[in-house]
Amino acid sequence: MIVIGGGLAGLSAACALADLGFAVSLIERRSLLGGMATSLRVRGLPEPVDNCQHVLMRSCTALLDFYARIGVRDQVRFDPEIAFIDERGAVSSLAAARLPAPLHLAPGFARLRFLTLRDKLAIAKAFLGALPGGAGSSEESFAHWLQRRGQTERTVDAFWRPVIASALNEEPERVSASYALLVLRETFLARRDGWELGVPKRPLTQMHAAPAETYLSQRHARLLYRAEATRLQVEGDAVTGVLLADGTRLRADYYLSAVPYPALFRLLPPQLVGHPFFSRPRGMQPSPIVAAHFWLDRPVTPLPHAVLLGRSIHWFFNKTHDFGPRDGGFHLALVTSAAHALVSRPRQDLLRQLFEEIRDVLPEARYARLLHAVVFKERCATFAPLPGCDTLRLPAQTPLRNLFLAGDWTDTGWPATMEGAVRSGMNAARTIAAASGLSPAQQFI
Ligand SMILES: Cc1cc2nc3c(=O)[nH]c(=O)nc-3n(C[C@H](O)[C@H](O)[C@H](O)COP(=O)(O)OP(=O)(O)OC[C@H]3O[C@@H](n4cnc5c(N)ncnc54)[C@H](O)[C@@H]3O)c2cc1C
Repeated sequence: MIVIGGGLAGLSAACALADLGFAVSLIERRSLLGGMATSLRVRGLPEPVDNCQHVLMRSCTALLDFYARIGVRDQVRFDPEIAFIDERGAVSSLAAARLPAPLHLAPGFARLRFLTLRDKLAIAKAFLGALPGGAGSSEESFAHWLQRRGQTERTVDAFWRPVIASALNEEPERVSASYALLVLRETFLARRDGWELGVPKRPLTQMHAAPAETYLSQRHARLLYRAEATRLQVEGDAVTGVLLADGTRLRADYYLSAVPYPALFRLLPPQLVGHPFFSRPRGMQPSPIVAAHFWLDRPVTPLPHAVLLGRSIHWFFNKTHDFGPRDGGFHLALVTSAAHALVSRPRQDLLRQLFEEIRDVLPEARYARLLHAVVFKERCATFAPLPGCDTLRLPAQTPLRNLFLAGDWTDTGWPATMEGAVRSGMNAARTIAAASGLSPAQQFI
């Protein structure tokens, strides 16, 4: 069994297949596992830094199961309160009341200071429309869906825009209503704690790369690093081998591609390049994220994290709170999702603007000295969940009988998230187990 790609999709599939007794070889282009959810070395800093803060919700059940499998489930902290800092600097907190879902957040919403009573009633009306059974076509934009439910400009800008950009990495105008409704149902409506924010207590390499490597090595999987797959060799309706950049050819009974769709296009042999099945994702569009890290000479907030309204920064995270005090100063991580307006800006300009915003939002930061700063720009962070994009996502099973697909962009019904990546990996592992002739009872993964 060959798995190409050591991101969360490839890792979750590889771990499950190794548990089923498959002899797994995992090919990873980089020198590290984890893919997009990783930490990077930065000159001048003693420890690797997360490429971007990654968070999850309690509703991310497949990801939490994967964390349990590789032994890091207890390394996620769930916070039952989310702070919002509005344009004037006023802080409101959202927390659940002791009421059953979907009423649990109603008293918390009623207390939010940045929305008027009219705004809150409009949001309540939209949530009623999002209850299971509420219509939301995959062809309709979420902005249009909101318009049909009488949302005010303020509810869109102060509530829906940050919620949707954080969850789906796109603006409501560019998000399919069906994806937005999935997120609203899973996060806010289906269960009392679904909305609680999960924050890793360790850097991402220690959440993903190191534990998954140990798990796979203990199950005798072969891990090939700095191994770039360059071509799938295909004869008839089957893959017969995979070529690596150094000329090596690897062979197996089954092949799982767990690479992003542009990388899959490059792996296909010429006769499959225009194939109607494999060509479908060509219509997908990427969406960017900008992440910055600042280290300051003193603490500037006691909050663990906050949503910022009316700013280019959508969230800040207090990494000193998450990881404990470390050399290098008080560590703030900032995230801007759907960062179309920022991603092409020069790094120094961006750092200047983002630091100015932080000084506006957190008055203590005005007295702090900036010790280090780094910004990461990811142009193709996720696929944009545009109206109609469902038809472009591919299933795990391909027209080649021994080639399978995983990746956050495949047809999971979920947006491009760690949860979506793990769901795709588990889905591919089950499809491979079934194709290999394992009975449903033996396929328990
Ligand atoms: C900046 C940023 C912030 C994010 N924030 C969040 C968040 O807060 N919460 C959340 O849930 N999700 C978040 N995401 C999304 C999440 O990181 C991804 O959805 C998920 O990690 C994708 O996993 P994957 O395995 O599908 O793909 P990838 O992580 O892209 O993995 C693919 C792997 O394949 C390897 N590869 C590619 N080509 C080849 C080749 N030819 N040969 C061998 N190997 C190859 C790559 O090196 C990579 O390791 C964020 C993403 C980014 C970029």
